[in-house]
Amino acid sequence: MSRAEIPPLPAAVDIYDTTLRDGSQQEGLSLTVDDKLRVAAQLDLLGVAYIEGGWPGANPKDDEFFQRAPAELKLETATLVAFGSTRRAGRKADEDDSLRNLVKANTSAVCIVAKSWDRHVLEALRTDLDEAVAMAFDSVEFLRNTGLRVFFDAEHFFDGFKANPEFAMRVLRAAEEAGAEALVLCDTNGGTLPHEVEEIISLVRPQVSAQIGLHFHNDGGCGVANTLMGVRMGATQVQGCINGYGERTGNADLCAAIPDLTLKMGVQTIERERLGRLTPVAHHIAELVNIAPNPSQPYVGQSAFATKAGLHTSAIARSRDLYEHVPAEDVGNSSRVMVSELSGRSTVQMKAQELGLDLDAVALVEILERLKALEHEGYHFEVADGSLELLMREASGWRQAFFRAESYRVITEQREDGRFVAEATVKVWMGDDRVVATAEGNGPVNALDAALRQALGGRFPQLATVHLTDYKVRVLDTSKGTGAITRVLIDSTDGERVWTTIGVSENIIEASWEALTSSLVYALLGHVPAEGVPEV
Ligand SMILES: [Zn+2]
Repeated sequence: MSRAEIPPLPAAVDIYDTTLRDGSQQEGLSLTVDDKLRVAAQLDLLGVAYIEGGWPGANPKDDEFFQRAPAELKLETATLVAFGSTRRAGRKADEDDSLRNLVKANTSAVCIVAKSWDRHVLEALRTDLDEAVAMAFDSVEFLRNTGLRVFFDAEHFFDGFKANPEFAMRVLRAAEEAGAEALVLCDTNGGTLPHEVEEIISLVRPQVSAQIGLHFHNDGGCGVANTLMGVRMGATQVQGCINGYGERTGNADLCAAIPDLTLKMGVQTIERERLGRLTPVAHHIAELVNIAPNPSQPYVGQSAFATKAGLHTSAIARSRDLYEHVPAEDVGNSSRVMVSELSGRSTVQMKAQELGLDLDAVALVEILERLKALEHEGYHFEVADGSLELLMREASGWRQAFFRAESYRVITEQREDGRFVAEATVKVWMGDDRVVATAEGNGPVNALDAALRQALGGRFPQLATVHLTDYKVRVLDTSKGTGAITRVLIDSTDGERVWTTIGVSENIIEASWEALTSSLVYALLGHVPAEGVPEV
């Protein structure tokens, strides 16, 4: 085979994230509708062009997501896309539930998947090839007629092209003729190699004029490499998932594909100024999906720029390009050897400005030292904005004077009927008043929350509007079994603001208590006029 002709590199590509649909197929990854909305908000903050939100009609969660999205998601850069399949064999497009559900999802763009490997049509769909082509055409045409923008996922395209290029191309051309805006070539089994991508796209490209998209799985370890090769061959829509989430070995990792394309190939992806959000967004989403980030992940991993050189730190500081393939700050990461000195300082300074705190150089260094020590213990302030604010206020001399806990106690019992009930007692001081309150709950944290609110409620009726919306626990060192460190994250809202607080301890109750009390202190802060923040 002669060498493929290489077209000019595209100036820009559209980043299309499918974490909420394809990525959520990952084992152990389960998202509530609230989680999905937050992940989408993070993706928008990063600045992707498209967010595939889910498959309306496939499960009630995805239906609810699309219902709530218009009111609850204020997307700045991203267009929300609903995913579905073509009409079924032997049915009419306008009578097909899957297509109707797509229209009902109320997005401006949809993506439908169709089979482009002949064997899948014959053996899985059990219909003939002409019908498969008609299914692609009719479905795109139907959706276009309702005014929707349509992206077309050609499932198993690379395997299909190798087996029967004529049929694979018929499917693509049918979708194009019916008005599909992008023809997305999918490597659904994930075993294609870069040189095959080069060759196949060089043969496909002259035959179509619609935008070419890419959707690679990582089963051969080439998800990102194939994506880069696809762009080099002229594709301009790049599908993938944050942190490479996905079924089996995952989808192409956008956290690597985005900086590779931007920094190394000079292809515009997200806005250049937003590239620095890559690492925080990747970590934030990892917290939301409750999967520990991979420290060795390219670009965004905690160790990605941790140079372990047997040299003096300052030598590395002077010539970092000798040790790093790109500057860590470009992707919002930091070089481990100087984490507190460089990236940390500016982040803390910015946050202080945002809070209107006047921190001198000494206080700033103190905060950085404290942050470093706490993060070493297992705290993670990137996702616990509420706790970070409290920590910074404390560094400026402030102490919360709303209440002081004398003690708390919680017991759980299993009753005769098999039910577990928890009962908590808290003793708190508010000024010179001592209040003792006892409450029950369905678990220890729930009982503590109820008792604490009961104790504080008389003095602070505004706490009635505060609700805990999520409670996440992660065991940080699994090698120690039950003696491991536990990190608790609590999300709260008062209907206007949303905040997250954190607690870390070997004792899950203690970690929960810390996150819980911090949440209520943060809530109370919001109701105090700025100049009236109580001081000790
Ligand atoms: Zn896929």
